[in-house]
Amino acid sequence: MRHQANAPQDAEQRRSIRPVVCYAVETLPKPDMALYEKARTTLKKIETIIVPAREARCFEVKAGQFFRISSIEGPQVGDLNLWNRHDLNERFFSGKTRALHATHVTTGHRLWSSLPALRPMATITHDTLGWYGFDQDGGGIHDVIGTRCDPYTNRLLKGNDYHHCCHSNLTRALADHRQLPLLEAEMHIHDVLNVFMCTGFTHDTHQYFMKASPVRPGDFIEFIAEIDLLGNLSACPGGDCGQSHSDDVAICHPLAIEIFEADPKSLENWAPQPKNAYSRTHGV
Ligand SMILES: [Zn+2]
Repeated sequence: MRHQANAPQDAEQRRSIRPVVCYAVETLPKPDMALYEKARTTLKKIETIIVPAREARCFEVKAGQFFRISSIEGPQVGDLNLWNRHDLNERFFSGKTRALHATHVTTGHRLWSSLPALRPMATITHDTLGWYGFDQDGGGIHDVIGTRCDPYTNRLLKGNDYHHCCHSNLTRALADHRQLPLLEAEMHIHDVLNVFMCTGFTHDTHQYFMKASPVRPGDFIEFIAEIDLLGNLSACPGGDCGQSHSDDVAICHPLAIEIFEADPKSLENWAPQPKNAYSRTHGV
């Protein structure tokens, strides 16, 4: 519900001003997709990690390796966190990724890291759901608008404790993988890439909505790691996120993470991404 205020006489004129895209993204350094396409043809799988339903698992990917998140048994949404493997303070920055690309990401888009590094952590090299585009409700796939389901919001809204929200799954998985105290691990968990999730904003009230994901077994989203990465993926308790989350009601499925190596010759002229070059003097 919007608070009603009296509109000024020139309200329509003010509303009709043409929008401009916030960032001059034509100067954004572009990934060499032809190079990645060629490297993709040489991929050899080196590891598979299964993420059980309503759980999360960590995985490590070296710069220049590829990784895929795949639907394997049924429609399932995944919540992805990424860090610089050598410095957990550098993490995926969903807000800036949204501002630089769009509310939903697909092939050619990049996952950017937090300030002050602000560099591509991974580039999406293939997305079998790229055909979906945006539907009549304004829904798209793989959003960077949602945050992750968490037990605090659940407590606020339902008054009970639920321990398998993505936030808790990611926390347990990171604590286990890095041998960190639970509460220390929790502080590293951040806003996610909502893999396979179908979301948007309602046309009338602009509220965040979800609808059942169109993902089916065999679908995948694939990335090249632009730096050494630590990843963490939760198979959301919302399942395909068609009804509810933060409870044990939805039918949930595992997800697969597959890590691939390309023929080194195919990436001869490629290098990991450097940190942002800003001086960090902030005008002082
Ligand atoms: Zn979730």
